[in-house]
Amino acid sequence: MTFRTAPRVLATATAALLALAGVAGCTTDDAAGADPERVDVVAGFYPLQFLAERIGGDAVAVTNLARPGAEPHDLELNPRQVGQIIDAELIVFLNGFQPAVDEAIEQNGGDRAFDVAAVEPLLDATAGGHDHGDEHADEVSDGAKDPHVWLDPTRLATIGDKLAERLGAVDPERAGEYTRRAATLRTELEQLDTEFTEGLKTCQRREIVVSHTAFGYLTQRYQLEQIGITGLSPEDEPSPQRLATVTEEAREHGATTIFFETLVSPKVAETIAREVGAQTAVLDPLEGLSAENGGQDYLSVMRTNLETLRTALSCS
Ligand SMILES: [Zn+2]
Ligand SMILES: [Zn+2]
Repeated sequence: MTFRTAPRVLATATAALLALAGVAGCTTDDAAGADPERVDVVAGFYPLQFLAERIGGDAVAVTNLARPGAEPHDLELNPRQVGQIIDAELIVFLNGFQPAVDEAIEQNGGDRAFDVAAVEPLLDATAGGHDHGDEHADEVSDGAKDPHVWLDPTRLATIGDKLAERLGAVDPERAGEYTRRAATLRTELEQLDTEFTEGLKTCQRREIVVSHTAFGYLTQRYQLEQIGITGLSPEDEPSPQRLATVTEEAREHGATTIFFETLVSPKVAETIAREVGAQTAVLDPLEGLSAENGGQDYLSVMRTNLETLRTALSCS
């Protein structure tokens, strides 16, 4: 099932990639982990790993490039991971989300890459946001797209169907298996979508104050509005002016909860919460599983998110 590149070519490609990424150290072009019985899939971060594992089942061996408990936006690739990208039979990534992964794929692996951002048009970065007319105008550059597509379960289901097709092309003997598993997953994701629609139908508030604007797809799907403390990337430092605006918004909309994330520091959210007399709670953007949610998966974390939202927004 696995076609190996000739070792010398592989080493050369690895060296070129390493030079390009500016990574120091020796090359480790071992093919460890490569399993001839299974399709070797590399996933950029957790939700893509979840899809590949659910749809691939025991026919695939999935490697997640993001470390557990680490924020994946700013992932940097080490030599071993570059080797995994070079060796993979299929690379599942989201173009525009992890620049280091985009670059590695551009250099090596374009034909083996499946870009989940290309399945359906992405929302503009401002979609699902909260706007009184001008307040976000200076924060989002024109044409910026929001990559957090996995937080709409129906979109994730559609991506899953396409991934099944792609796996079927890589491994035609088991194409039917992939299609069947994608259909099962679609049923579960549609059930989750129904729970969100029902659970968030009647609420006293619809604005959510979140640490970074990861929730555009979720807020658009379920008619909520997000007020982000930082922008699309959690590493952006909010300006004092932005903090003041968010604090004012939280007051104005009577927010009882300021949300923070498992993989970034809660400090700013705590400051705003203290300021307005609100609580803090975790709303997980599922960019990765944290150490505390071992044994959880996309579906269970999303259900926890739903309960958190229902409490914070006083939904009936
Ligand atoms: Zn994000
Ligand atoms: Zn407002």
